[in-house]
Amino acid sequence: METSQYRSTRDASHQIDAASAIARGLAPDGGLYIPVEFPRFDLSDFADCKTLADTATVLIQPFVQGSKLENEIADICREAFTFETPLLDLPVDQAEQQVSVLELFHGPTAAFKDVGARFLSACLERTEAGHEGKLKILVATSGDTGGAVAAAFHGRQNVEVDVFYPAGQVSARQEQQLTCWGDNIRAFRVDGRFDDCQALVKAVFQDDELMSKHRFSSANSINLGRLLPQMAYYAYSSVLAHRKTHQAPSFIVPTGNLGNALAAVWARRAGLPINDIVLATNANRSIPDYLDKGDWSPRQSQATLASAMDVGNPSNMERLLTLFPDVDEVRHQVSAYSVTDAQIEQQISKDFEQYKQVWCPHTATGFYVYDHLPLNDKKNRQWIVVATAHPAKFETIVEPLIHAPIEVPKALAKLLDLPSHAIDLSAQLSDLRAYYA
Ligand SMILES: *Cc1c(COP(=O)(O)O)cnc(C)c1O
Repeated sequence: METSQYRSTRDASHQIDAASAIARGLAPDGGLYIPVEFPRFDLSDFADCKTLADTATVLIQPFVQGSKLENEIADICREAFTFETPLLDLPVDQAEQQVSVLELFHGPTAAFKDVGARFLSACLERTEAGHEGKLKILVATSGDTGGAVAAAFHGRQNVEVDVFYPAGQVSARQEQQLTCWGDNIRAFRVDGRFDDCQALVKAVFQDDELMSKHRFSSANSINLGRLLPQMAYYAYSSVLAHRKTHQAPSFIVPTGNLGNALAAVWARRAGLPINDIVLATNANRSIPDYLDKGDWSPRQSQATLASAMDVGNPSNMERLLTLFPDVDEVRHQVSAYSVTDAQIEQQISKDFEQYKQVWCPHTATGFYVYDHLPLNDKKNRQWIVVATAHPAKFETIVEPLIHAPIEVPKALAKLLDLPSHAIDLSAQLSDLRAYYA
């Protein structure tokens, strides 16, 4: 059997297998890894799949074919996907409309980033086995990613994680999810902003002395090991919806760095029954503006209520534009709408009043877009809105809008009760150096 190859977005001649691409993160030329060829699935391939883990195993197998991960993929999926991603029908006001919600927040930190982080962790634990010295993963975080990565790697034998977050700029519950781990996870509370945390991590990667002493890697969302598993819930839910309605469903995906939505595009490319893919962004409108005007102009990010989507220069755009270099091709793949903070608030209040549904601010952008689709697109079609986080993570925003307390999911409540510990750090590399002596 042939080996599945991945190429850099910047150099088609640089090609490596899946295990190597996951271990490296970024290509040596700074590009991102994309499949040279996509496997092709039929619905019947998934006939025996009952769980997310089953579906992920069938789906990801050909993507890692011929690499060190090939024989481990069933174990990796079983280990990573210990929770489900339920697809729930919602009541709607008109009989010919059908909308469902795909809940991606049943993992340990109650956001969809658990899916990618846990798969990546299970892969790296295996690719790193036998290496001398532990791999050190550095994560700069403005809140959500750091918690998911810390949770996913806690207790691993071959990998350590250092999380860097800006002091006073993450919510109390987010901070607890960054600082409650101990063992192979350290949390650094940095005197600075998110950008300073990111600069600190970059400074480590550019420091010859530190780089020669240790093996460092990053776990940010450009790693192939986070994208591959995100295709699994699109496969799982589209096959499930198709079994019920004999139609390919369309998806609305709350979007920031474009990792989640790109996984939907890849899944459709691999033959999964997926109709339209609609991106919902917050006030950061780089992607909708590109689709409107035709030129790509990334910009500074702007703070919004849906903070995990505050991205002005989505890194996965490079992957999308390599696969579809012409803007008309991109328009054929996805459409995109921007949602303001006022509209997010309005949607959270309205859906609670009307349906007793509580959304996080990110998920609310998706439902706002659903409500404002042209009626012709809504009717006689199956729509799935992707719910990216549990609202209890953003209780300070959501509770005042619905005038009711939000129950905290069990997994999250467990973390909130643990003792926590952070190391205070200046934003200077010279101070961090002591921790890598
Ligand atoms: C990260 C995140 C997003 C954005 O996902 P991308 O893959 O960056 O587009 C949306 N919602 C939540 C809750 C997130 O944590």
